Amino acid sequence: MVYVLVMENQTPSISCMTEAKKILVFEPDKGMAQQISMAVCGATQITPVTVNTVSEAISFILDHPDSIFAAMVEFAAAETNVLLEKLARRSIPVVAYSADTSEALQQKLMTVGIADMIVGPANTLPISIGKSVGNLARNCKETILVVDDSRSMRAALMRFLKNRCYRLLEAGDGIEALELLKKNTGVKLVITDNEMPKMDGFSLIKEIRRNFTKEELAVIGISAKTNSQVSVKFINNGANDFLHKPFLKEELYCRVDHNLEMLSRIETIRDLSNKDPLTKLFNRRYFFEHCEQFAAKNKDRILTVAMIDIDHFKRVNDTYGHTAGDMVLQKVAGTIEKAFAENGIVARFGGEEFCILTSHDHEEDIFARYDRLRRKIEADTIDIDGESITIRVSCGVCMEKSNVQTMLKAADENLYTAKDSGRNRVVLH
Ligand SMILES: [Mg+2]
Repeated sequence: MVYVLVMENQTPSISCMTEAKKILVFEPDKGMAQQISMAVCGATQITPVTVNTVSEAISFILDHPDSIFAAMVEFAAAETNVLLEKLARRSIPVVAYSADTSEALQQKLMTVGIADMIVGPANTLPISIGKSVGNLARNCKETILVVDDSRSMRAALMRFLKNRCYRLLEAGDGIEALELLKKNTGVKLVITDNEMPKMDGFSLIKEIRRNFTKEELAVIGISAKTNSQVSVKFINNGANDFLHKPFLKEELYCRVDHNLEMLSRIETIRDLSNKDPLTKLFNRRYFFEHCEQFAAKNKDRILTVAMIDIDHFKRVNDTYGHTAGDMVLQKVAGTIEKAFAENGIVARFGGEEFCILTSHDHEEDIFARYDRLRRKIEADTIDIDGESITIRVSCGVCMEKSNVQTMLKAADENLYTAKDSGRNRVVLH
């Protein structure tokens, strides 16, 4: 079959793009199609399916109604209206591009729901297209909460944002929005109306700011009020930005992009100072800066501090080399993080040593949880140069109520006991 150009064994780097997700490029010129294909592949790790005629594009869409992530369309070509309509009907995001800069042609696109429009000299198009589809791929990892009591306004906002591949949540008032924020971690942006029943936008933002800083969660306020004080009030209550209703779709996209980009830059800077670059776990400094705060927040639950050390790690480095050693550290870190990071602080303390501070509901589950982790690490063998190696860890746990420093010391003593009594075990006194 001609259309299967997606590399079968290539793992896409973007989590929301499962193997089923394909990217379609419609470009009449074969040379240009190849350049665009390379740019798209560079940005998304997915080799797109390229077609040179509208009819080929349409039959591809009909054959794969649910597996197309996005389509790149040279919109100046003949009969693209039919193609754009088919894509819109299936809610497939479109990056429309052309070297034709005529105003009339661009006006034609204003009526169709497209994710991005790129107009410029032919030699710059592939790079811009790659960047645009790369952004769409990143967008599908970001969650935006839309809050508006008007169903039609909410639906319009959701439609615009869906076009850009964001993950979306919606709420009809402030109370509902706070509930959703409580249940869904990882919301990056809230777009909220002000005039709403039960809880208005200003009060909602004030509540949000009790738990999230402007650098953790961005808020864009929207209002139909013509009073210029509204934007000031939004910002004073903690909003990052403001949009006046009615607004252009492009204006919304600009504000959303700008705010998410700002958040992402801050996150990068924060990660550089707080996280261990190899394992992406928190570093020792972050642990000590945040442990007492975590303990205070969870004072009504049972706290544990655990020290984990990989058994005979030096042997891994000596036998298989440091690259293999790094792989082992990453794998073990990932397993520990999966098991405990959701409700605690997991840090790499240095070398092959990890520390976990976490809270529990039931005392009787604690040993079992750490032992399950130990067994999981042992069971997940690691493939190095075709050889499957087993990694084991020793773990010392302290659950006596005290300050974190004292608990850490006790956990460390228990870790030594675990090592002394034969390794590959959990010791909890
Ligand atoms: Mg309203």
